[in-house]
Amino acid sequence: MTGGARAATLDLTRDAGALTADLVDIESVSGDEAAIGDAIEAALRGLPHLRVDRDGDAVVARTDLARAERAVVAGHTDTVPLAGNLPSHVDGDLLYGCGTTDMKSGVAVALRLAAAMAEPVRDVTYVFYDCEEVEAARNGLGRLSRTHPDWLAGDFAVLMEPSDARVEGGCQGTLRVDVTTRGQRSHSARWWRGENAIHAAAPVLDRLRAYTPRRPVVDGLEYREGLNAVAITGGVAGNVIPDACTVSVNHRFAPDRSEDEALAHVREVFAGFEVTLVDSAPGARPGLDKPAAASFVAAVGGEPRAKYGWTDVSRFSALGVPAVNYGPGDPELAHTPHEHVSLAKIADCEARMRAWLAGR
Ligand SMILES: [Zn+2]
Repeated sequence: MTGGARAATLDLTRDAGALTADLVDIESVSGDEAAIGDAIEAALRGLPHLRVDRDGDAVVARTDLARAERAVVAGHTDTVPLAGNLPSHVDGDLLYGCGTTDMKSGVAVALRLAAAMAEPVRDVTYVFYDCEEVEAARNGLGRLSRTHPDWLAGDFAVLMEPSDARVEGGCQGTLRVDVTTRGQRSHSARWWRGENAIHAAAPVLDRLRAYTPRRPVVDGLEYREGLNAVAITGGVAGNVIPDACTVSVNHRFAPDRSEDEALAHVREVFAGFEVTLVDSAPGARPGLDKPAAASFVAAVGGEPRAKYGWTDVSRFSALGVPAVNYGPGDPELAHTPHEHVSLAKIADCEARMRAWLAGR
């Protein structure tokens, strides 16, 4: 972008690859999405078949055709900080630049669908939101779910995060606990007067090593849980028997368990030990058994797979909307200086999404 007084404009009739480049060239590091929000809002306001709302730098556009079903298509407009990778440039089939894969190519596809699909077979709500790449408290989708939950209502949501054009269903939950052992301090020269809390942590590690994580199938997708020590702290000085030791444990759990159930399970694993919850975030069911999701999977093709990491699909899930990730970018390239995306993949992704919304 040239900056200054001239506002960026977007032409939604340009092909999705060119539109991706236009979006990439509007710098929008988290917290600085006003210009891209303005450009998206202006482009969508001109379309008579959409109702457009704005909250902060988030823009929400929807068809209101009284269809039996409503789908939500969502994407974040922010990027991680630049790494000398703007403006965008094309090399063969690849478009390079900050945000190409994560996730302005997905945003471009969503904008193209919003502009072109005046009469989709299911009503669609398009959500373009800010601040996904920063701490959860600033997340634009989280804000919308608090201020305007009705704007996010739907039967099924597609989050166009980079998934290498494969359907990734739901996401695993995550929680962290501290498992603490207590002892008694003494001089290490008279160690028998004390009680060593670090030694007392050995059975905690034994239980972790012996633990067999579940691999449950939820709505047709196999998840892979984990229970792992991620830190250990303890010790007072080189000549002191330690009186406390804490093993920090991270549990990744499949979406057939709630946060409470997952915590109860962890407490059971460490029965007899002092267990303190540090933080926790719920998983999300893929919901692939729902008709809207099944028709999506059929239209876009490929074998759906489980999402192991935590993503914003969980925010939809919390609102009762099953959600999947599906976008043209390669997730491995997200947040890298040489981030790029295949132009052919963007076009292919758009064609499949169009077929879904056209009921073909
Ligand atoms: Zn992203």
